[in-house]
Amino acid sequence: MSTISTNTPTAELQALDAAHHMHPFTTGTELAEKGARVITRADGCWLNDSDGNRILDAMAGLWCVNVGYGRRELAQAAGRQMLELPYYNTFFQTTHVPAIQLSAKLAELAPGDLNHVFYASSGSEANDTNLRLVRTYWAEKGQPQRQWVISRWNAYHGSSVGSGSLGGMKGMHAQGGMPIPGIAHIDQPNWWAEGGDLSPEEFGLERARQLEAKILELGPDNVAAFIAEPIQGAGGVIVPPDSYWPEIQRIVDEYGILLIADEVICGFGRTGNWFGSQTMNIRPDIMTIAKGLSSGYQPIGGSILSDEVAAVISGTEFNHGYTYSGHPVACAVALENLRILQDDGIVDGVRDDTGPYLQERFASLTDHPLVGEAKIVGMMGSIALTPDKAARAAFAADAGTAGFMCRERCFANNLIMRHVGDRMIISPPLVISRSEIDTLFERAWQSLDEAHEQLKAEGLM
Ligand code: PMP
Repeated sequence: MSTISTNTPTAELQALDAAHHMHPFTTGTELAEKGARVITRADGCWLNDSDGNRILDAMAGLWCVNVGYGRRELAQAAGRQMLELPYYNTFFQTTHVPAIQLSAKLAELAPGDLNHVFYASSGSEANDTNLRLVRTYWAEKGQPQRQWVISRWNAYHGSSVGSGSLGGMKGMHAQGGMPIPGIAHIDQPNWWAEGGDLSPEEFGLERARQLEAKILELGPDNVAAFIAEPIQGAGGVIVPPDSYWPEIQRIVDEYGILLIADEVICGFGRTGNWFGSQTMNIRPDIMTIAKGLSSGYQPIGGSILSDEVAAVISGTEFNHGYTYSGHPVACAVALENLRILQDDGIVDGVRDDTGPYLQERFASLTDHPLVGEAKIVGMMGSIALTPDKAARAAFAADAGTAGFMCRERCFANNLIMRHVGDRMIISPPLVISRSEIDTLFERAWQSLDEAHEQLKAEGLM
């Protein structure tokens, strides 16, 4: 076996990577030809790669590094816990101090009576838990026929068979036998792309009322739950019209079905409150958490249940759990991460200080000729690229052509932004400073200019 390190030449690292490492959501042969970018170190909002570039990470990894890279306290919390108790499970009537501490802390932070935590190692696992949990809840209440879970097209809830089925990504459903039965999808509240002649408010109501129509179609007594992200993330940061969530809350209340808020991205300060449910003013029965829970320093996720849901589930043996449910090292790191978010005033900063500054600069991107709408809540935002703002037109080329072009220009300018179709999205570490926000905008503008020139040169607009 070859000995490699971060000092090994990039081409050698890339060749070995291509030979043995299979990447998620990637066409392997294409990547092998191009060579993967090798990230070697990171601090704050900045990544270093093996070619010596310093890259501004406006995506916080995969929307997760909320406290930024390089926080020594988190490494120390992990080290301490590994020396004291590196592993023990929480099956078979046992527990340990990190799981107890983290659960109590989450109960304190979560809104309303969301006071009970079931752990997983990821958002996907947590949503698989939720699928079994809501059906078990209704079976325990004497309504086992309540099997249907309603979700939305273009939602992302994970990549496992259960969570991928809950999600509404058609490209994912096309592979590997998804969706599994018992899951129905309604349309997303994406006014820019799908709103037609309706005002945003009218459109928000129309999309929310699809939930009511779907409940009536399936039979109100057959529906277990509705699951949604407060703001769709991986679907392109789709901020719903203001009319949307109040109407959804009315409908779930009226039909008495459970509401699952998938807070995997929106949680832990991303929207300017601890949870997106607070920003959107909704009252979920269950919240899915992951990502910002540990700022990505350890793989940990979970489901936070209301008093009532937890009481019903606790009445039976819930035959479900993972080896790493409530992993002590992950719990210790998450707890320290929550302390940092709280003590450093990071969540408050997103709401009152750097968040509003980012929003102001982000809104100004609509002055660029390529940008239609700019939507941002807290520190998750997206812009729609368009050849014609007034008509909210899509490009004639395949969806994603312009977005991909723009993302490549961002990479070349040492800025990580992501594209979803022809929307460009940001979700930076919540510790981003004002001067880093300025840098982000200079590079984003420059990349938009270059993409604009390229689109014109190739006759695509
Ligand atoms: N739910 C949402 C809203 C997500 O954004 C994600 C991941 N992007 C997941 C669930 C799945 O989480 P994981 O990748 O940790 O399994």
